[in-house]
Amino acid sequence: VPLLKITGLGKSYDGPRATGQRHALQGVDTTIEAGEFVAVIGPSGAGKSTFLRCINRLIEPSEGSVVFEGRDITHLRRGDLRAVHTKIAMIFQNYNLVYRLCAIQNVLHGRLGYKNALAGALGLYTEDEKARAFELLDEVGLGEFAYRRADQLSGGQKQRVGIARALIQDPKIILCDEPIASLDPKSSRMVMEHLCRVTRQHGIACVVNLHQVDFALEFSDRIIGLREGEKVFEGTPDEVTPQV
Ligand code: ADP
Ligand code: ADP
Repeated sequence: VPLLKITGLGKSYDGPRATGQRHALQGVDTTIEAGEFVAVIGPSGAGKSTFLRCINRLIEPSEGSVVFEGRDITHLRRGDLRAVHTKIAMIFQNYNLVYRLCAIQNVLHGRLGYKNALAGALGLYTEDEKARAFELLDEVGLGEFAYRRADQLSGGQKQRVGIARALIQDPKIILCDEPIASLDPKSSRMVMEHLCRVTRQHGIACVVNLHQVDFALEFSDRIIGLREGEKVFEGTPDEVTPQV
């Protein structure tokens, strides 16, 4: 079985923020294999963020299904989703770190889950967990920043803490929603290099929303192109036509 099988996935928003476009996402079919690195590209408003969030149900899809490791998670109860969320980690554009805590405490939060974001004391964790958190920070080049407060780190460093925090969950896949959209080109490249390398090393699949087609071409095994909520392209970087 594939890691993720996505069938007819769609989302219509209603409420005050809904725009003229009826479907934020519509009829998206795709399959993600274990260890694959997939880029999702498309202009702003194309549905990239909605797509990722429907996969782990941060947003409830309006139609379609998501099957993770052979199990349909589309209608899983909220309480049962928590277990799924440890295997489907997520990284956000705005990092979602707890800024008054240091890097290693933020990484360790990946173990507690996101309900406990304020349980910051290092005493809560075993020595093994702390050693593992340190090791993961070291893997993304932040060993010497482990005890620096998150708000003292650069944007690229913050996102690398985000990667380490995702890794400590031992996920099967990491969903990355515009992970480099707030970064300058140099930090963006560094984050992409770390993300690509560590996920390959750990055999973790990765789906990354990107504005930059060039990074998608350079780093991904496969590219999915979205436009106005629909999948308009899917293929390897070699198969991308200039218009995408
Ligand atoms: P992208 O990530 O590609 O920029 P999004 O998934 O954020 O695209 O948005 C897709 C469409 O859904 C856009 O038209 C956007 O305005 C709309 N949308 C996103 N979030 C909401 C929301 N919470 N309520 C209403 N419409 C939304
Ligand atoms: P709630 O159910 O009260 O919204 P959660 O613990 O589910 O709280 O989520 C709190 C925060 O963590 C939110 O900002 C959410 O976007 C984020 N979050 C939820 N699931 C994940 C995940 N799998 N990986 C990373 N962050 C997540």
